[in-house]
Amino acid sequence: MATLEKKALKGGEWIVRETEAQHVFIPEEWSEEQLMIAQTCREFIEKEVSPNLDRIDKMEEGLMVDLLNKAGELGLLSITVPEEFGGMGASFNTSCLTAEATGSGHSFSVAISAHTGIGTLPIQYYGNAAQKAKYLPGLSTGELKASYALTEPSSGSDANSGKTKATLSADGRHYVLNGQKMWITNAGFADVFIVFAKIDDDKNLSAFIVDGTTEGLTLNAEEKKLGIKGSSTRQVFFNNCHVPVENLLSERGNGFKIAVNILNIGRIKLGAAAIGGAKSIIGDAVNYANEREQFGRPISKYGAIRHKLAEQTIRTWVLETATYRAGQDIEDCINAFIAEGVEPEQAKIQGVASYPIE
Ligand SMILES: Cc1cc2nc3c(=O)[nH]c(=O)nc-3n(C[C@H](O)[C@H](O)[C@H](O)COP(=O)(O)OP(=O)(O)OC[C@H]3O[C@@H](n4cnc5c(N)ncnc54)[C@H](O)[C@@H]3O)c2cc1C
Repeated sequence: MATLEKKALKGGEWIVRETEAQHVFIPEEWSEEQLMIAQTCREFIEKEVSPNLDRIDKMEEGLMVDLLNKAGELGLLSITVPEEFGGMGASFNTSCLTAEATGSGHSFSVAISAHTGIGTLPIQYYGNAAQKAKYLPGLSTGELKASYALTEPSSGSDANSGKTKATLSADGRHYVLNGQKMWITNAGFADVFIVFAKIDDDKNLSAFIVDGTTEGLTLNAEEKKLGIKGSSTRQVFFNNCHVPVENLLSERGNGFKIAVNILNIGRIKLGAAAIGGAKSIIGDAVNYANEREQFGRPISKYGAIRHKLAEQTIRTWVLETATYRAGQDIEDCINAFIAEGVEPEQAKIQGVASYPIE
């Protein structure tokens, strides 16, 4: 991997190897195009989401779906989807930047990242040609909304211990799903569920694309959460759901690998989204500290408050620096895999999987 040797550290290597400063990506290096895409995302949050936070938190009927539709019209749901399926085909680190740009959108950022990330990426990375052609265009525009159903009441961190079962129907045309999932983001309006279940007595999970209209798929009421109250989070039940055999994603028994790899991408993008939230809060905190007066002066004049503002800014800068440096290292690694002949979507998975410590 010649490109990788020269430019980027291998996963975890930052702990033991010196890096020359010019090989470390810094946000000042974003291209005009990357900054423009991020600006479009930020403007969407400012115009469509921020003024409606209370309505979103009250889960006003249809509002989240409308917002996702509008985001889809602007192309915000298809940023990393390959161009052949109607997307922009943006790079890995660009997807981190756009996660930051939508990250200050409270519950909306949960819905959009679940849709574009854990909901869409399993099909984008592991789907066969027919599955991609069937689902990706609709997921790109927002005509289809996606959800990812892994967690179960007795299976959280230990995700491979799930009890949801799939058995082949007598005529061999369907897998029959039975089981229960919980805390499933976007479940209330999803058209497509990525569902993880074990076929017969398999040791490992398999992954299935399940249409939301499948008979036997039912939902519990919305969870009442402490925060991010406006994102849909529901239990999903599968009662003899017939899923066409062609909706098995990848190979039998490959579901746990899919689940973990997709979550690995989600983890670094969640870091990027947190930068967006943190930057937005710095602005709010500074404005408040300048407006709020006590003892005849704005509280921003007091050392303890200044210390807090400085500390939150420093920590956010550290988060930003670490995230985009890692994001670019991963992207360089992806490009090195592509240069070696690895298929692009597979290269993305291998690239992220090469940086577990980051
Ligand atoms: C708002 C929200 C949205 C969600 N959306 C989705 C979704 O869309 N799809 C989906 O599939 N799931 C979703 N989840 C579920 C989420 O992925 C799980 O909460 C997560 O996997 C952790 O599982 P758990 O909550 O059962 O915690 P547990 O696994 O019960 O863990 C409880 C605690 O024990 C710790 N722990 C567990 N094992 C170990 C260990 N070996 N060593 C040390 N500590 C350990 C954990 O770190 C944690 O602190 C969502 C959850 C929330 C809260």
